[in-house]
Amino acid sequence: MRVCVSVMEDSVEEAISSALAAQEEAELVEIRFDRMAHLPEDLSPFQGLEVPIIATLRTAAQGGSFQGDRDRKEFFQKAARVFDHLDLEDDSVLWDDFQGMEGLICSHHDLEGTPSKEGIVRLLEECSTRGMPKAAFLLNDVRDLRALLSAGREFSSQGEFLLMGMGELGKLTRVRSEEIGSAFAYASPSRGKETAEGQLDVATLHRLSGATVTGIVGYPVAHSASPLIHNSAFDYMDIPGIYLPLPTPEGSLGDLAGLLRELDIRGVNVTIPHKRSVMDHLDEVDEKARLVGAVNTVVNRYGYLTGTNTDVDGVEKTFQTMGVDPADREVLVLGAGGAARACCYYLSQEGARIHLLNRTRERAERVAEDFPGVRVLDRESGDYDIIINCTPLGMEGFPDRSPLSPEMFHPGQMVMDTIYNPPMTRFLREAEERGANTCSGIEMLIYQAIAAFEVWTGLSPPYEAMSGPIREGL
Ligand code: NAP
Repeated sequence: MRVCVSVMEDSVEEAISSALAAQEEAELVEIRFDRMAHLPEDLSPFQGLEVPIIATLRTAAQGGSFQGDRDRKEFFQKAARVFDHLDLEDDSVLWDDFQGMEGLICSHHDLEGTPSKEGIVRLLEECSTRGMPKAAFLLNDVRDLRALLSAGREFSSQGEFLLMGMGELGKLTRVRSEEIGSAFAYASPSRGKETAEGQLDVATLHRLSGATVTGIVGYPVAHSASPLIHNSAFDYMDIPGIYLPLPTPEGSLGDLAGLLRELDIRGVNVTIPHKRSVMDHLDEVDEKARLVGAVNTVVNRYGYLTGTNTDVDGVEKTFQTMGVDPADREVLVLGAGGAARACCYYLSQEGARIHLLNRTRERAERVAEDFPGVRVLDRESGDYDIIINCTPLGMEGFPDRSPLSPEMFHPGQMVMDTIYNPPMTRFLREAEERGANTCSGIEMLIYQAIAAFEVWTGLSPPYEAMSGPIREGL
């Protein structure tokens, strides 16, 4: 991967010092002059750099901080004598003055969104009439990423170009810049010195080139705790890898499946609203996920996509950690959605006697059809060894209510919540007050994540590597 480190400092001295360090790790260095209070008169100090250098004076309209066109022409005329490349925006008024010059980069930045594939190709074509075309777009979701990738593939026969995404999803275009066809990837000299949203620092970019890419597919996904969990596991295990939110609106799972294969994304977790619909876009769905009726994890083995369900593993490991064997125990499961079905899968395999109580009885009956032996209740009644909440009642953003009366709890019971935010729900608090042994949904969350990480990498991160950051975050 060829890398250009983008240096943006307040003074020439600072820029030189940063560029000298950057050239050790990069094939090119870009000097962004737009933050300097005064444009420098003397650019000769930059002649000492040993890699090709780009002079850029990015305007505010295109994501920089240079105001107005005051001294621009004079500055670029001087820069042309020292720098190998000048980066001029496609809407710059200076094109007439620099037309036909060697080493020009014609750049376009859209800080709001991404056009269609055809729109991107058209922009690259227009820019290429003036210099090496460069285009950067804010990627809002996987459809934008697919458009960018397809445009890169289509334009690649027409010569060298620079193409990248901005924003969180844009990180993927930097890590996989070669697949997109970009001549090089921009990076910051160090963390915190980024010149564009989604840019990575040069050390991280090198480390992640060819790394294991994973992520979470859903809509929305910005709130998900999974990136925190998995990225800390990659760090702890010292494996080059990244886990990114992959916002996937309804109707765009086809784009997502294409991206998994084309960008060699090793695997993804799947959340609302795609846990069921994603099945139509996979090559195979394993027996566990089919019976649960939900895929929460996809693994990509050389383009062959398999769906599985690691929520089941999450439930199983939680029981093992609690030291509870559900065989022949009376278990009450509250809810009849994906989490409840994952519990039923594990519990029925272990030979538990399952009782299901759900707001909508018909949905519980459908679960009972798939898991023979499950008994559907009309109302809360009976005495249980184990109770599991699989409804969102008590979750952040939902009413602070328990799905069960406190009278249902007693000492010696195992009471588990699948909710992990907040870690202590009213349901668990009332169970604890009545002497039950409780367990938060954090355990299930961590163990399902460990199982997914194992499926993708073949490696098993320790529990602490994944639980620490999430406990701190909640
Ligand atoms: P789901 O498929 O939408 O099912 C939700 C279930 O809760 C349905 O049975 C629904 O009943 C019931 N429900 C919803 N609102 C209710 C209310 N106001 N009162 C009573 N019942 C209500 O969701 P899911 O994927 O199973 O997730 C359920 C919970 O599990 C969520 O809190 C989620 O965060 C948690 N979860 C945790 C993990 C983890 O790793 N810790 C993993 C997966 C899920 P109806 O059938 O009547 O709609």
